[in-house]
Amino acid sequence: MYSTVDDFMNMIVEKNSGEKEFHQAVQEVVDSLWDFLQDHPHYMHAKVLERIVEPERIIMFRVSWRNDRGEVEVNKGYRVEFNSAIGPYKGGLRFHPSVNLSILKFLGFEQVFKNSLTTLPLGGGKGGSDFDPKGKSDNEVMNFCQSFMTELQRHIGPNTDIPAGDIGVGAREIGFLFGQYKRLRNEFTGVLTGKALNWGGSLIRPEATGYGTVYFANEMLKTRGESFDGKTVAISGSGNVAQFAAEKILQLGGKPVTLSDSSGSIYDPNGIDEEKLAYVMELKNVKRGRIKEYAEKYDCEYWDGERPWKVQCDVALPSATQNEINAEEAKILVNNGCICVAEGANMPTEPDAVDVFLENKILYGPGKAANAGGVAVSGLEMSQNSMRIQWTREEVDQRLHTIMKDIHAQCEKYGKNGDFVNYVKGANIGGFIKIADAMLDQGVV
Ligand code: NDP
Repeated sequence: MYSTVDDFMNMIVEKNSGEKEFHQAVQEVVDSLWDFLQDHPHYMHAKVLERIVEPERIIMFRVSWRNDRGEVEVNKGYRVEFNSAIGPYKGGLRFHPSVNLSILKFLGFEQVFKNSLTTLPLGGGKGGSDFDPKGKSDNEVMNFCQSFMTELQRHIGPNTDIPAGDIGVGAREIGFLFGQYKRLRNEFTGVLTGKALNWGGSLIRPEATGYGTVYFANEMLKTRGESFDGKTVAISGSGNVAQFAAEKILQLGGKPVTLSDSSGSIYDPNGIDEEKLAYVMELKNVKRGRIKEYAEKYDCEYWDGERPWKVQCDVALPSATQNEINAEEAKILVNNGCICVAEGANMPTEPDAVDVFLENKILYGPGKAANAGGVAVSGLEMSQNSMRIQWTREEVDQRLHTIMKDIHAQCEKYGKNGDFVNYVKGANIGGFIKIADAMLDQGVV
């Protein structure tokens, strides 16, 4: 047995060499859990911690496909089936050139805790490819998705593993993936979530992660007698999560002032209103353009190659990718008056930056709690598919709202110390207990 966090982490680094994002995700969880585990040694005796950091299965495969010039291209495909103690594997697929095993293991590991927090019976997994949909034609994306699914279909199913979208995988990609699964398996089942409404999708699924992040932030603000009304909000990213976070903020009376993409950020001090947001959705989802075009159209600042964290804001919602706020940027945010950070993205805050937020006692909601709304509504999509029914928009939104409040309550229960809530600790302990108890019940498997 390991007697210190450092001993345990040395083992992790040795066994998973070079996987720095995975080390970072494990370190955060183990730091939060360590004291709790000393007080509950039965988990340590059964080696639950050693087991929970090891994926149950990793599938890696070649994805060969033809581009529009008739040339053969080759990508790597992955599915990390991390933990099925409380339900079938569930988690997104990411298509981005940066994808590698370390990133998918970190995402899968976080997903296990996140899914546990949703209160739904969902295990954790993650997958994807180093394929870059950017600049590819619809036909090329379809060729790739069909080849990717030709292998993946052997390993997934509505009771085994149910992938969804993530960076680079939106409605178009889910459609192509589902079509190929159906063709090969000759079955129409809820094997993927994030489907279009007319063939099994759930209302509110596109909105769920962004809306859920804002609902979670709102619960945090309420603990200090605050709300979104009149608040200035900095958002990074301009994809699915960022767009619907901005939409919900506007509905709650807040003012989003920034968005970004992998090329740079825009700053619109007048606020990104409904009309401007509709333009962003068209630009990003239909034209597949760059956020720079917003600055040209609305005559505001564009910061080439920069992130948006130097602005004055009350709330920050990092919603692009991992490690996009460093310690220096965290200090700038705090000094500029930011009182609340809720992570729409997974692990967007570097460890030193998390320390800055916690030391300054601002409201800091880690992704595994704050962005769990996406997978929660995916879980609701699975329920609707099984029952062959479709709930109304209001019903799904109501359930999402309730789930985000429940997650907030779990974080408070396990993270409260005096009048300060450490949401990192709360989310990690709350998520852990349910999975760890299920693992104990199911024996050494
Ligand atoms: P999208 O692909 O829709 O959008 C991603 C956005 O982030 C784009 O604006 C993209 O810019 C930007 N981005 C991607 N990579 C980088 C990078 N390396 N540096 C700077 N900007 C980058 O993805 P989502 O909105 O779905 O996902 C965003 C985050 O939210 C991810 O961390 C994801 O894991 C997380 N998340 C998503 C959920 C979902 O339901 N979709 C659920 C829970 C978490 P560009 O246009 O240039 O690529």
